[in-house]
Amino acid sequence: MISVEKEVSDLTFSRVECPKCGAVWMNGQHYWNTGQKGDEETLSNLVCGIKNFKDCINPKHKEGHIYGDKDTWEKRAGKIKKIVEDIDDAQGTDYQI
Ligand SMILES: [Zn+2]
Repeated sequence: MISVEKEVSDLTFSRVECPKCGAVWMNGQHYWNTGQKGDEETLSNLVCGIKNFKDCINPKHKEGHIYGDKDTWEKRAGKIKKIVEDIDDAQGTDYQI
């Protein structure tokens, strides 16, 4: 674990980075690398759960567990599948390669 503690006047700023997935927590709040506030359960679904990193520091990550109410690759793939189907429908179904 890479942990950097810096004194900023009387405040302590902590930045913790997961050595496996690169996820960053600042003062205990997870942020995506876009700088947006993150969500540990979504992070687990989209990043940590894919490889089941043994030493992932995400406190919400459970091996083999998917948080069903959060975004998942399956949901994202479903959206893409729907788009592809719409395109296929638009092209007609009697077309062969
Ligand atoms: Zn991680």
